[in-house]
Amino acid sequence: MRLLIGSLWQTAAMRGFGLEPIFSHFGIQTYRVMVRLLPRPQSSSHYAFLGHCHSCGEYKTVSWRKLSRAVCDQDGLPLTLSGPLWLGALHKVEFVRQMAEVVNILPSDRQPILQDLLQLFAAEADLPPYHFPLGEIGRRGQMDPPKRDRLIAALQAQGHRASATHLCAQAIKTDATLQTCIHLSRSNINPIDNVNPINSIDLLHKLRSSL
Ligand SMILES: [Zn+2]
Repeated sequence: MRLLIGSLWQTAAMRGFGLEPIFSHFGIQTYRVMVRLLPRPQSSSHYAFLGHCHSCGEYKTVSWRKLSRAVCDQDGLPLTLSGPLWLGALHKVEFVRQMAEVVNILPSDRQPILQDLLQLFAAEADLPPYHFPLGEIGRRGQMDPPKRDRLIAALQAQGHRASATHLCAQAIKTDATLQTCIHLSRSNINPIDNVNPINSIDLLHKLRSSL
């Protein structure tokens, strides 16, 4: 999805325009993006590279100027780079809020599913351009995968931003490091509560069957 938006951004820039994503959606096998052309080109700060450290699992955004010295902040090892990609927000939060207002005039039986889904889109919109799978947090921490909503709550209690993501039901997006996620997961292994997490894939299935 970020490759697609990045390609659109580059094409627009070559023609003297700017571009911003309004709404982006991944559903099963289909990527859909809605973008707005802007009258002037923008800074390329959101069109850059994403680095991943295979040793410790951390991610880092890398600008064009720092490509030749992209190393992991945790251990100094070279990063594997992807890109150039769109690294900015996937959705315009104001537009998502306007969609939520429209949902209020739909039949009431569809409203809860759509509102939950839109809440998820708004929450993930401008979080970092990567996510941490719960399975990887568990594997690297040598424990069972953490409960998603419990980990999100723990991260937020520590002052981090964190959210589920519609891109993967078993993953989180956060501005915290993977190491922080592992540390908090270890300290939150027990007890398990009755949290009923928002599963975006389930929501999409329910939505399709209700239309
Ligand atoms: Zn590393």
